[in-house]
Amino acid sequence: HPAPPPPQPEQPSIEAAPAPIATPPKKIQKPYVLIGAGTASFAAAQAIKEAEPDANVIIIGEEAYSPYMRPPLSKEIWFSEDPQVATTLKFKDWQGSERSVFYQDDSLYHIIEDASGSDVPTDKIKLLLNKSVTKLNVEDHTVTLIDGSIIYYNKVLLATGGAPKQLPKQPESSKITTFRTIEDLKQLDAIVKPGTHIAVVGGGFLGSELAVALAKRASKEKDIQITQVFPEDGNMANVFPSYLTKWTTSRVRNLGVDVKANSVIDALETSEDDNKILMKMDAGLKSLKVDHVVVAIGIEPRVALARDAGLEIDEQRAGVMVNAELEARKDVYVAGDMVSFHDIQLGRRRIEHHDHAVLSGRHAGQNMVGQKSKAYRHQSMFWSDLGPEVGYEAVGLIDSQLSTVSVWAKSTAQDTPAFGKGLVFYVRDRKIVGLLLFNVFGKVQEARNIIDAGLTSDKIDNLLKK
Ligand code: FAD
Ligand code: NAD
Repeated sequence: HPAPPPPQPEQPSIEAAPAPIATPPKKIQKPYVLIGAGTASFAAAQAIKEAEPDANVIIIGEEAYSPYMRPPLSKEIWFSEDPQVATTLKFKDWQGSERSVFYQDDSLYHIIEDASGSDVPTDKIKLLLNKSVTKLNVEDHTVTLIDGSIIYYNKVLLATGGAPKQLPKQPESSKITTFRTIEDLKQLDAIVKPGTHIAVVGGGFLGSELAVALAKRASKEKDIQITQVFPEDGNMANVFPSYLTKWTTSRVRNLGVDVKANSVIDALETSEDDNKILMKMDAGLKSLKVDHVVVAIGIEPRVALARDAGLEIDEQRAGVMVNAELEARKDVYVAGDMVSFHDIQLGRRRIEHHDHAVLSGRHAGQNMVGQKSKAYRHQSMFWSDLGPEVGYEAVGLIDSQLSTVSVWAKSTAQDTPAFGKGLVFYVRDRKIVGLLLFNVFGKVQEARNIIDAGLTSDKIDNLLKK
């Protein structure tokens, strides 16, 4: 066998050998910026992360707390036996399980301190607290923070909720407060002590829930008086038909609240001599002195950022106008209390309830990441209660201005509490547009189906037979 050829020396390459390539730093995408650290933003953040786990998502909130749910603040928190409940912020849900008002522990967020944190790589949802957004520039795709710094966004969600309204004539005083946040809860919790008389102004959801909750607390301690004052005929009069308002008002009174219906506040004044608040009512005919007043007369959606950015405002409903996909302009989405949206079944609406904040926030988040935007078709529900024993759920338009058809079952020995269950159908132009389920639970989906089907009120008999 011939010897194998000697190994050839390697030909020098004409080009210099390439330098070893370092793995390129992970490209940080322009973030999805969610303005407002409330329920709608949290739901949107989760939806974005589910669809795109490495998405750069920043929630910016001006409160000191990570996103939390507000419903327990006017209900379950006050029913707790724990004297430290305003600190633990834990409550028992309707199934008796202990829960926190916070959606998730702070350790599950990547907390950032300022705008520079928007570029930091992390898989977690970023959270920037104690910072207000002062400007939205939809042309440049930027938001400006209160410290003047700027964050560029890929897509932005406006979910700034609403600010509680104030009475037209009320002085600046620590004895007159509103109620929406954890801070408000802590403050009120410290005030409700023996020897205090507290007045709640407003007969809507918050006023009625809070009056009952405070009365429940008062029943456990001595010498606390709770008065509720509002202009309507009874509790929830803007929502319930009048017979149900009457029943509800008597129930609220039985729970220990001194309900002053048909009372219009002229002005609140501070009374220097005895450190109290003087409530002047009914064109000077009546007055009442109390230690503290909680004003619960509705909210004003926080639309200033949107207005200044040139977005369209629905002045009639005081919300930011969006299309069916919850988009106000390209790359600008809106959800929660502040959005005026088109309900395909019921027309243009703005809804101030928890479930809508979750569903619209989630839907906006999905549309922000998705290739194909989908129309918001969810029919949200809401619930409320008058103490732990009486509750209701509802779907659609629930407004006492509409005509109603009510169906009540006689109470049975099994009913707790001992009175019947009821359904109230709200009707507009003969069509069923809303359904209130009073002490009837687990029927929300059926109620949604009835409204989505656009049935007329003459079908109610048939529905009841099913
Ligand atoms: P919010 O939860 O209000 O969140 C908005 C956040 O944005 C706030 O934290 C605010 O500080 C922040 N923000 C505003 N402007 C800026 C800015 N420029 N920069 C940075 N941050 C900003 N609904 C029900 O269906 N059932 C109930 O039982 C119920 N109970 C309730 C009890 C209470 C005490 C309250 C107050 C409300 C209750 N609601 C209930 C209503 C429900 O909580 C609201 O509909 C829901 O919170 C709306 O969510 P959101 O995300 O739109 O706004
Ligand atoms: P609301 O709109 O439910 O009720 C407003 C009430 O304010 C009216 O019923 C009226 O009695 C009263 N009012 C208005 N102007 C007044 C005036 N000048 N003087 C005296 N009373 C006056 O609003 P709310 O009860 O303040 O609730 C605040 C927000 O929290 C709302 O968005 C509400 O939907 C939400 N919330 C919802 C629930 C729930 O869904 N279960 C519970 C609590 C709060």
